[in-house]
Amino acid sequence: MTKTCASCGNHYKNLFSIFMNGQTTYFDCFECAIFKLAPICQNCGCKIIGHGVDSEGACYCSSHCARNAVMNANAKIASTTDSNV
Ligand SMILES: [Zn+2]
Ligand SMILES: [Zn+2]
Repeated sequence: MTKTCASCGNHYKNLFSIFMNGQTTYFDCFECAIFKLAPICQNCGCKIIGHGVDSEGACYCSSHCARNAVMNANAKIASTTDSNV
């Protein structure tokens, strides 16, 4: 039985499997696996293929993006609560 890549549907005999969130998925290459499974940075929108940063339930590609997102959130709170602006 030949399996197919879960991302591009390629029939390939040397598929590898990734076990994630309780289920096994098969891919023909890492690019397909990244495309399908990698989390997306909540700040810049890129695929997180490194360790990434978890901050307050959101994923970021770097500490720079995590800081930026927190700063933006704080700026939003400040502008909605500060009546002098
Ligand atoms: Zn593929
Ligand atoms: Zn980012």
